[in-house]
This record gives sequence, C-alpha cells and structure tokens, in this order.
Amino acid sequence: MKSRHGQPSAVPKVGFVSLGCPKATVDSEQILTQLRAEGYEIGSTYEDSDLVIINTCGFIDAAKEESLQTIGEALRENGRVIVTGCLGAKEGVVLENHPEVLAVTGPHALQEVMRAVHQHLPQRHDAFTSLVPPQGIKLTPSHYAYIKISEGCNHRCTFCIIPSMRGDLVSRAPGDVLREAENLVKSGVKELLVVSQDTSAYGVDVRYRTDFWGGRPVKTNLQTLARHLGELGVWVRMHYVYPYPHVDELIPLMAEGKILPYLDIPMQHASPRILKAMKRPADSANMLERIRRWREICPEIAIRSTFIVGFPGETERDFEELLDFLREAEIDRAGCFEYSPVEGAKANALENQIPETVKRDRFELFMETQAEISASRLSRRIGTQTTALIDEFLPDGSALGRSFAESPEIDGVITVSGGIGLRVGDLVQVRIEHADEHDLTATVVSPRN
Ligand code: SF4
Repeated sequence: MKSRHGQPSAVPKVGFVSLGCPKATVDSEQILTQLRAEGYEIGSTYEDSDLVIINTCGFIDAAKEESLQTIGEALRENGRVIVTGCLGAKEGVVLENHPEVLAVTGPHALQEVMRAVHQHLPQRHDAFTSLVPPQGIKLTPSHYAYIKISEGCNHRCTFCIIPSMRGDLVSRAPGDVLREAENLVKSGVKELLVVSQDTSAYGVDVRYRTDFWGGRPVKTNLQTLARHLGELGVWVRMHYVYPYPHVDELIPLMAEGKILPYLDIPMQHASPRILKAMKRPADSANMLERIRRWREICPEIAIRSTFIVGFPGETERDFEELLDFLREAEIDRAGCFEYSPVEGAKANALENQIPETVKRDRFELFMETQAEISASRLSRRIGTQTTALIDEFLPDGSALGRSFAESPEIDGVITVSGGIGLRVGDLVQVRIEHADEHDLTATVVSPRN
C-alpha cells in the first residue's frame, strides 16, 4: 500500500476531521475507536494520511459551507476522501460540489463508513502483529466454513422464540459477506455453508438495496449473492431456505454448477391445518409441484428438510398427510423433532397438546418412513461418479467424505476407500459402490486436485 506521496505505508493511516455538534463528535469517536481497534493509525496531517474521513455538519448554511470547504481542502491536499455526517445525508449536495469523493454516508453510520474504509484502504494482514487471521476465528475444520448472511427473523412461528431473542431480520451488506467469503477461500476453505435464520428473506429489510463489491454494484438479494459466491470457485451450500417464490431462481444456478444442487428447506409439516397453527404460510400441494419443477430443471438436486411431529392439535390424519407428503416429495434427507414446548412460545397455549407416547410413536414411524425413502434415493446413486470432499480419516485408512448431497454434521457420509495419499480438504472423484439408509461407500476414481 502506498501513501499519496508514493511511500509504502506499513500500517494504513486515516486522517480525520470532525465538524459539528456533540452528536457528531460521538459518531467521530466511534469511528476512530473502530479504526484503532482494527489496527488503522490515525494521521495527524493530510499529507501523512492514506485517506481522510470528514465528519460534516449541515445544520445551518454557514456550517454547510464550512463542511464543503473542508472537503475541498482535503481533496486538494490528500485526494482520497470519505464524507460522513449530517451533510452526508444530502449526498446530492456533496457530489454536486465534489464528485471525486470516494464515498458519502449520512450521520451515525459507523458500519457504512468502515465498509468504505475497507474497500478503499484495506487493512494489510500481518502474520506477526495481527491477533486474528484475515478469515476470522473459525470453529469448523479449515476446509469448510459457515457464513452468516443475516441475523433475526420477521416470521413469528408459534413454536419458536428466536425473533424475541434476536429481533427482526437484519441483513448483512453483500459486499461484507463477499469479502468474508473471499478471505475464507484465500485461507483454503473449499466449501461455504450459507446460514441465517431465514436465508431466503435476505435483503428484504433493506429493500434489496445496492451495495458494492470489487467496484461492482451488488444487490442485497439471495440470487445475486449466490451468483457472486458461486464465482469464488468453491462449493456453496444453501441452508435454511424458506420456500419463497424467488427461491425458484436459485435452481438454474444449481443446474449450471454455480452453487451446489442442495437445498435445506425447513418445512416443519405438510398438513395445511398444522402449518396454519404453526403460522407457517406454506402450502404442501404447491410445494410438491415446485419440487417436481426443481427436479426437472436440476435432476440431481438433493432436498433436505426438518419436520416437527406431535405439534399441539396434530391428528392421526394430519400425521398421515405428513407421511404421504414425504413419500410423494421423496425428500432426500429429513430430520425430525418431537414437539416440545419452549418457554415463551405461543404454541404452549394451544389446546390439544399431544401425549409424549404418541409423539414418540409418530417420531419412530416418521424415521422409519424417511429411512425407506432415503435408502431408495441413495440406491439410485450406486454406480454413478461424484466429487467428494474429504473430511477425515478412519483408523483403517479409509476416508470419510461428502458430496454435493451431504452437508457436514447433519447428513450422511461417504466412506471412501483406495485413496492413498489423500488429505483432509482434498476433492476427489469417486464411484459410489454401496448405499444404506443414510450413508454411502465409494472408491476413488481420480484425485480432482
Ligand atoms: S422457526 Fe425460523 S422462520 Fe419461524 S420464527 Fe423461528 S427463526 Fe423465524
């Protein structure tokens, strides 16, 4: 990184000019604190800074004039300027007078200012001085990583208390998500698992606003994010995808090989009566039709879901409807939970709570039915070739891996034999030799990389 005078800057330096009232001062303090926390130095002159932030005031004409003059001065003396604060709320006024500024944000916009700084003056990672690796601290093995794209949820499912703990949906800016993803890929991650409480609602809270990544505009919506993640050259797997209509647009990306042909859709039930009591606006007839269409477009798509049995008021008929749905939809993998009341959930107050023994019987029948479906789906893969990502090794020397159809921890595994010299994180071409209800065995055909 070079300063504007052509000297390499060991540590990026940000100059700061704070104008305006005490509220603006607090904003400035927060930005300065964050800059320091991230390892940026604060420059004391325009000349020794790599970039300058001006926190402006726009309260009266004189303050506005002073702010515009200061921006002009910083552009002349330094050349790289980010504008924030009250005058920044009038982006048009700033750009009309100084079109060459790098970014403009309104007041109290710490995240946006930091994003602009990251974009125009990225922090160099120094293996000796940085406490945290560029990809952050991960609890997963180094070859796959979860990436969270939003927090909170706008639904109010009656069995769930997540919205009361985490609040309504707040989507991360796609530029931030993609930068994190890029760092993960650079650190050697081969598989990105996209998670959130409600992945398909991504962007609805910010009205799908446009952000920037690598100088390109990127809309805050799932299809766009998935497409860009798919360009990073690693596996991208979608979790917690509530089946809104626009989810259909992900399927062509799967058929083109941009993202893995895998969808984790938490359906919870199939009986319209129970779905209504759960406050899940889904429709199982429509769901069947959509799954049929998805498989037409992308025949190999693997569908995973979770269901709840024994929800208050669930009759034998509702439960039969659920089993019929499983058989007809041929869900590849399904997890099942016996309903249990969670403190604070609305469903606790519903009538006709189901006896524990009935819940258990239904759970067992569900698992038996799903095991048959899963075994039948998996048996169709015998003799086919697939790419497996190696996760670990067994004492007998065989490897455990997964293909596009298996997510870590929750789905089955592929036991791979004949892979001399394989390492964790390798992608290998394997032939499926055998399948049972949940897992597969395979032999190596050729290493992929
Ligand atoms: S179950 Fe999922 S979709 Fe429903 S309220 Fe909870 S987090 Fe939201």
